Amino acid sequence: MKQIESIDDIRAAVRALRSENKTIAFVPTMGALHQGHISLIRKAHKHADAVVVSIYVNPEQFGPNEDFDSYPRRLQADLNVCEKEKVDLVFTPDDAVMYSSSVNYFSIEIEELGDHMDGASRPGFFEGIVLVVNKLFNIIKPDIAVFGQKDIQQFQILSRMVKEFNHSVELVMAPIARANDGLALSSRNAYLSEEERTIAPALYRALRYVEKQILDGVDKPELLLSHQKDELEAKGFQNDYLNVYSLDRLAPVSQLKEGNRYILAGAAYLGKTRLIDNIIIDF
Ligand code: AMP
Repeated sequence: MKQIESIDDIRAAVRALRSENKTIAFVPTMGALHQGHISLIRKAHKHADAVVVSIYVNPEQFGPNEDFDSYPRRLQADLNVCEKEKVDLVFTPDDAVMYSSSVNYFSIEIEELGDHMDGASRPGFFEGIVLVVNKLFNIIKPDIAVFGQKDIQQFQILSRMVKEFNHSVELVMAPIARANDGLALSSRNAYLSEEERTIAPALYRALRYVEKQILDGVDKPELLLSHQKDELEAKGFQNDYLNVYSLDRLAPVSQLKEGNRYILAGAAYLGKTRLIDNIIIDF
């Protein structure tokens, strides 16, 4: 395994793999790798001959009051994980490598797909992700890139980006890796106090409860969702959103229709930790 910091060097290393006729799968991450990231790496191995992982905490996707400075950074432990998972190349650029020019002449706007869910609560978040993943795709030029369902809005926006910007990469979605009690694994779970950690799985339980009611025939889930939000608040969460969205357009849906696919998604703060989770529903 090679750890590479510069764009020229990673391009040369990818070229070397290509010259051996190897296909390339790419897993972009912000590090603090956990079992969720590992499941992406393993999926990547199934889809291609060589796997490239990037570890980069992208400043462009953090708002001014968000956790950029405190975001967990554990490069050595991450490299050990990558080594163990037989990753071929680990790309670890710094800000000067990724954003070398001091002036940005272009800005990206996202229509519609960024209007709700995390896009509504975190201005600039998906614009920052589109910017960095666009750059990373241009640098690595992978055949396949693996992303987690955990960030389903990200997946849908990036799928659109690939289509509209004509990247020749196929996106693959990996299911959400969870702790035994159901909590979706996240690098940010490290912020949770011991007590908060015991409360945290309630978000997933609320989603599961709503999912069951919907699959049992509740097609107007508004009241159900508002009850679950109250219950989460009583447990100590500060709700951001808990709602059903159309899978294709990511717009809130009040009346579900048979034969359609939806995302049941929730985001809530527990103390200073923002938790997100979702379930895909085939109605
Ligand atoms: P991050 O390092 O948080 O930017 O995440 C990097 C990739 O890992 C993204 O594609 C995430 O969706 C994915 N990911 C994060 N947590 C999980 C999880 N619990 N299960 C599956 N994928 C995940």
